[in-house]
Amino acid sequence: MISIADNLQNVRQLIKNAAISAGRDENSVQLLAVSKTHPATAIRAAIDAGQRRFGENYLQEALDKILTLRDITNIEWHFIGPIQSNKTRPIAENFHWVHTLDREKTAHRLDAQRPSTLAPLNVCIQINIDNEPTKSGIMPTDLAPLAAAITKMPNLQLRGLMAIPKAQASDAEMAASFTKMQRLFEKLKTQHPSVDTLSMGMSADLNEAIAAGSTMVRIGTAIFGARADAKKD
Ligand SMILES: *Cc1c(COP(=O)(O)O)cnc(C)c1O
Repeated sequence: MISIADNLQNVRQLIKNAAISAGRDENSVQLLAVSKTHPATAIRAAIDAGQRRFGENYLQEALDKILTLRDITNIEWHFIGPIQSNKTRPIAENFHWVHTLDREKTAHRLDAQRPSTLAPLNVCIQINIDNEPTKSGIMPTDLAPLAAAITKMPNLQLRGLMAIPKAQASDAEMAASFTKMQRLFEKLKTQHPSVDTLSMGMSADLNEAIAAGSTMVRIGTAIFGARADAKKD
């Protein structure tokens, strides 16, 4: 029997250790618990163990869980999957954060569809840091104009950058990609004061990501256990 509470405690300790060995404040890295494919009961168990921030990739599955868990008022829902442009409205209406913004057109839709009764939607721009043809995200050279456009949208709050480095990278390639992200992030922060989030690092590359300044790591399996094959929405 896995215990989600034990797993969470272990992951939190790994994050603190990584921060300390990078010479950073041990509380400077937030944990996003990636709950895709896991049921609402698993999320409740994580909430009981003090976790409040959850990441979901598949929209319909996420909306079902958000509805099931609506009695819990302080959950923070993060959308971390690819955004289909005809499905922006439920994202704008139900999430607190989006990590995977990579088109100005999508940003305009989210801005227009964000209910004015809600706080602005927090957004990170996804960077295709290893220039992979099939991966979402923009090229670094396209960052400045997209960031500038987003900061003019009243219902979006630009919070930072997100990346998923390529899967089969050597340690040196991975480190180089994280360092590139760190430089982009530091530069963006000087241009836009609302920027404070660098979303990078998963179970396998936690230490390297935190050493390169990640402020939010996205961890699924180490908390909730293995997933069955991912479903599509
Ligand atoms: C699934 C996913 C994660 C978590 O992956 P694990 O290997 O389960 O830790 C992190 N980020 C994104 C974007 C994901 O889709």
